[in-house]
Amino acid sequence: MASFQLTTLSQSSLQDYVDCARRFQLRYLERLSYPAVEAEPALENEKHQQEGEYFHRLVQQYLIGIPNEQVSKLANTPNLQRWWENFQPFSQTNLTGLTSQLPEATLSAPLGNYRLLAKYDLIAISDGKATIYDWKTYRKRPRNEWLSARMQTRVYRALLVNAGAHLNNGQPFEPEQIEMIYWFADFPNEPARFAYTSAQYKRDWDLLTKLADEIDSASSYPLTDDRQKCAYCPYRSYCERGVRAGDVDQAEAETEAEELFDVNFEQIGEIAF
Ligand code: SF4
Repeated sequence: MASFQLTTLSQSSLQDYVDCARRFQLRYLERLSYPAVEAEPALENEKHQQEGEYFHRLVQQYLIGIPNEQVSKLANTPNLQRWWENFQPFSQTNLTGLTSQLPEATLSAPLGNYRLLAKYDLIAISDGKATIYDWKTYRKRPRNEWLSARMQTRVYRALLVNAGAHLNNGQPFEPEQIEMIYWFADFPNEPARFAYTSAQYKRDWDLLTKLADEIDSASSYPLTDDRQKCAYCPYRSYCERGVRAGDVDQAEAETEAEELFDVNFEQIGEIAF
């Protein structure tokens, strides 16, 4: 099996690595396409995922200045209409009068022998404070504890400290100036907010560096012991852990499945710098 030389790491690849080293190997080193659908029913999930991506595009268009009337015409399915209607009041309350807003900003920094890369839905800067927004179209609202431990929450805040000086007049942001907010399109009044501290930043960057070193020197990629991770894993037929998607009825297991499905080739592929 061909193995690719990986030069970038992202929150998705790191999350895969901590969830299951085997999945990391199959997805990022072997670059295998999905042999099994993520969850049943497959078509419905695929449609939901496409609508989620489309919603991100609508928000981006709106944030770069395309008038609401024009963008709202593109919200042409029941899900998109509902999400877009939910987004309006949130946007009016939170995203007006900012010093600057950077939709779809990409930041990167060296991490061990790799580059750590993150694409943000929005970085909003106002009153010396940087707020990271991430739009989620999850069907269920995950617990804050689960979100707090996700690699995305750690990577996005840490990378903004490490690589965001150009957004702050050449001065790195202090962790205390940074907050990350997940906004849920189906739970518009229940955003999850994560402030940041210097101690958390140190903890996160140490962890990220340790993971990068581990990945760099790894010679084997064991299957996870947590078989629950396999329930929705697209690679389970490679691991003889079932060919049919599980029906674990847990918000976080399902949400993890949505995240798995959400990894796109931009995140997997090499990005030239
Ligand atoms: S099926 Fe399980 S062991 Fe295999 S890659 Fe997926 S999570 Fe890992």
